[in-house]
Amino acid sequence: MTVLVVGSVNADLTVRTPRIPAPGETVLGGDAVTSPGGKGANQAVAAARAGADVALTGAVGQDAFRDVALRGLHAAGVNLDGLHTLDAPTGLALITVSAHGENAITVASGANAHLTPTHLPARLDGVTHLLLQQELPPEVTLHAARAAHAAGIPVLLNAAPTRDLPADLLRCVTHLIVNEHELAALRAEGTNLERQAHSVLERGLQAVTVTLGAQGSVTVTPGGTHRLPAHPVQPVDTTGAGDTFCGVLAARLAQGDPLSGALRAAGIAAALACTRPGAQDAMPDWAEVQAILT
Ligand code: ATP
Repeated sequence: MTVLVVGSVNADLTVRTPRIPAPGETVLGGDAVTSPGGKGANQAVAAARAGADVALTGAVGQDAFRDVALRGLHAAGVNLDGLHTLDAPTGLALITVSAHGENAITVASGANAHLTPTHLPARLDGVTHLLLQQELPPEVTLHAARAAHAAGIPVLLNAAPTRDLPADLLRCVTHLIVNEHELAALRAEGTNLERQAHSVLERGLQAVTVTLGAQGSVTVTPGGTHRLPAHPVQPVDTTGAGDTFCGVLAARLAQGDPLSGALRAAGIAAALACTRPGAQDAMPDWAEVQAILT
């Protein structure tokens, strides 16, 4: 019943400023806030909070940001036997948030970019689902997907951030999760979103989910289309909503929920994550989701 996440681990350094600085400009901001981040770590934390056994394969450095990056993973009880300490800085996201709610983000991938297929686990014993994103070197993601696919383990890929999605990788994916922008980047045929998702599905997948922010999500499978409205909330900060959705979806599938139930739990958890500031800090635990589900 273990969800294995092979993904990025970062520290986020956030500063609020009156406006995003223009090139060459210096803007005085508020206090710098450090928090754990990285899509891999975020999704691992979301999955663990949803009650799954979760293991993460990833990399950090030996610098001061390491502890920040790992804080949420430790607190959520994620198995870090597959975490490598490399001779490189811990991944760092420099986030500027303006008073108008815009943000500008620079990611220094650091140790994440130094991960190679040799760092992946030699065996996948006990792993029931593999959860991937696109923040690691593509050959690492591909290698992990191939190994799981060969072992008959379902592979969930959150194709974020937007980057080239090689056919080799897609062939190993069971369930693809994308937002509207990431779907557009796949250049799928079709005049509307559902048709486009179907045309991606026909590349050999079992499910394609398109997340639509406050509009919820649409999932297409060979058996039909599943539209899920968003759980209504007053959003405060939508950072990490997509990561919460993916982590909880994998966790609930790993715990034997049917796809429709897992999607519902993922949608509720992601909505709750929007009601609090931050990414990992905002993710709900299972009791909170369950109280809405029942
Ligand atoms: P991000 O990059 O901000 O983490 P994303 O673009 O990957 O997000 P979204 O489609 O914005 O993903 O959100 C993922 C899911 O979170 C949605 O499918 C929905 O279930 C939930 N969600 C997002 N925004 C809201 C909202 N305002 N109200 C309720 N649910 C929301």
